[in-house]
Amino acid sequence: MRLQTVWRARSLLQRAPVSCTFGRRAIQTASSTRVPDFAFAFDIDGVLLRSSKPIPGAADSLALLKEQGIPFILLTNGGGKHETERVAEISEKLSVPLDPSVIVQSHSPFAELVNGPDEERALENKCVLVAGGDGDNCRRVAEQYGFKNVVTPGDIFMANPSVWPFSKNFSNYYKTFARPLPKPLDPTDPIKGLKIDAVFVFNDPRDWALDTQVIMDLLLSSQGHVGTLSEKNGRVDLPNHGYQQDGQPHLYFSNPDLWWAAAYPLPRLGQGGFREALEGVWAATTGGPSKGIELKKTVIGKPYQGTYEFAERQLLRNRSKTFGGAADLPPIRRVYMVGDNPESDIRGANSYRSEFGSSWHSILVRTGVYSGGDPAWAPKTIMDDVQKGVQWALKASKWS
Ligand SMILES: [Mg+2]
Repeated sequence: MRLQTVWRARSLLQRAPVSCTFGRRAIQTASSTRVPDFAFAFDIDGVLLRSSKPIPGAADSLALLKEQGIPFILLTNGGGKHETERVAEISEKLSVPLDPSVIVQSHSPFAELVNGPDEERALENKCVLVAGGDGDNCRRVAEQYGFKNVVTPGDIFMANPSVWPFSKNFSNYYKTFARPLPKPLDPTDPIKGLKIDAVFVFNDPRDWALDTQVIMDLLLSSQGHVGTLSEKNGRVDLPNHGYQQDGQPHLYFSNPDLWWAAAYPLPRLGQGGFREALEGVWAATTGGPSKGIELKKTVIGKPYQGTYEFAERQLLRNRSKTFGGAADLPPIRRVYMVGDNPESDIRGANSYRSEFGSSWHSILVRTGVYSGGDPAWAPKTIMDDVQKGVQWALKASKWS
């Protein structure tokens, strides 16, 4: 399935409740001044916030852009909460009112798979596994997106703790949110039991071992039935040696970041770390790339083209609203992408090719993952922090 195509079909953020705080204020200011032909995209962690604390100058920078009617979007590989909840938190921490339409989280595009590119591929009424995040927060986000049957690895564990006996130490945790399965497991005839149609890693898994086991089980299953093992696995006469050739659920990851900036002085492993670990287990089990066997999956989030396309379309919609829906707005010629992670923010901005004709100018700041030296992906500009980056960009765009 080509997610980019799906993204064009519908937008979660078009359906998100929209308050007018941003639009009214910007219209009042912008209507009497020229329309900017540039915009900003900000990463959040390590740029605006670090360990939930505001980075100095971040709030003033956003407030200034709002005041000037300069459009911006928050483009994050983070997630685990619904967009409205996440924006409310950021607004409070920065003391800057923000509209839910300004944020694109890593898993936001998953919402468009509810209806899919067509009825046959719609997942609304199918059963999906959602992994990652605190408790079952991500399940509730998925339900808000419109998925009707959402199962977590914790639900499967609580239904049959022998699926991963070492998680018994965490039973009290899983008890707080586990729900009965929409269809029970059937150990005597698993094909009649629970069937999973898609696997989403929404956010960083908290129990890597259980999530690895449950996802591996599904990738090796027949048709996604929990407790089965496909007879096609290992057959050399089939593509991919028979692996993932038996109607197993497709696997989606929302965030490729190997590292992220947290309170600890050194970067911490992100969802990309979990994916690498799973790929390692997959390769050890199947033979992996040395035998020409791949793990078929879809990865979204920065630095991928589709995520930047999704963000730019949202940016253009917001800009149109800001200026009262005027049809003759000049195009956005430049978008400044301010980020702290060379692998995601900078690489993505440098490689993105806009269908709207804009060029993306990467600005790397030193307040997060990047701490100096030659970055793996060279930005167009390096600045100490977001405020200096914004000031530099305004000057570069001759905005006084
Ligand atoms: Mg970051």
